[in-house]
Amino acid sequence: MEWVDTHAHVQEEAFDPDRSEVLKRAREAGVSTTIVVGFTVDSSRRAVELAVQYPELRAVVGIQPNYVQEARPADWETILELSRAPHVVGIGETGLDLYWDTCPIALQIEYFQRHIQLSRDTGMPFVVHCRNAEQEVVQVLQSAAHEGPLNGVMHSFTGTLETAQACLDIGMCLSFAGMATFKNNHALRAVAVATPSDRILVETDCPYLAPTPHRGKRNEPAFVRNTADCLAIARGVSSEEFAALTTENARRVFRLK
Ligand SMILES: [Zn+2]
Repeated sequence: MEWVDTHAHVQEEAFDPDRSEVLKRAREAGVSTTIVVGFTVDSSRRAVELAVQYPELRAVVGIQPNYVQEARPADWETILELSRAPHVVGIGETGLDLYWDTCPIALQIEYFQRHIQLSRDTGMPFVVHCRNAEQEVVQVLQSAAHEGPLNGVMHSFTGTLETAQACLDIGMCLSFAGMATFKNNHALRAVAVATPSDRILVETDCPYLAPTPHRGKRNEPAFVRNTADCLAIARGVSSEEFAALTTENARRVFRLK
């Protein structure tokens, strides 16, 4: 069986002491590709560097909504440059975050739209972070969809069935992370069950929010299997079948070889 962890932050300091070991465990667990996602210029650059260093890594570059206020104009130029670097397969993470009350929504929307435009310009998908901002995110996506088809991923999706449907209607994929394995999270598993087979992805979003039975510990790419196995059971398919279809989706969306 083979999995793709479509969203990981293995460039973070949390992995500095044992990154090679972590990636070895991922390979041994059958994770053939891990997509390393940036949230600032520095972390995006680091993602690109790691993707050069480790053949199983790919990079996504962008400025996460919580960091757009501190971004300097030159930072966006750097993201444009990094988007042309080898092993870069996507743009992000972008989106809207109204949980941390740090950055004006107008500025977040402006950067969100820039990332979507860069996705169109490069032909690579964009990766959306959405926290306490479902309606606002859907609004931005719907107005962007008027200008042409969208190729994007709702990462670590935790929204309602209604939001899921709105995103699916305009061509987005939904990626599920560890929270979908939490015992009481029946509502989120129901969304995963309702997601069409060609639009569902799995991820860890490590080092954050490890799936059951690793909950509370540092998350790592190998644990994508725990989320995938849980969702396979919920969808009533075998792990083999679910691994195959999520891997195929990841390959198609991120154009992995
Ligand atoms: Zn993330």
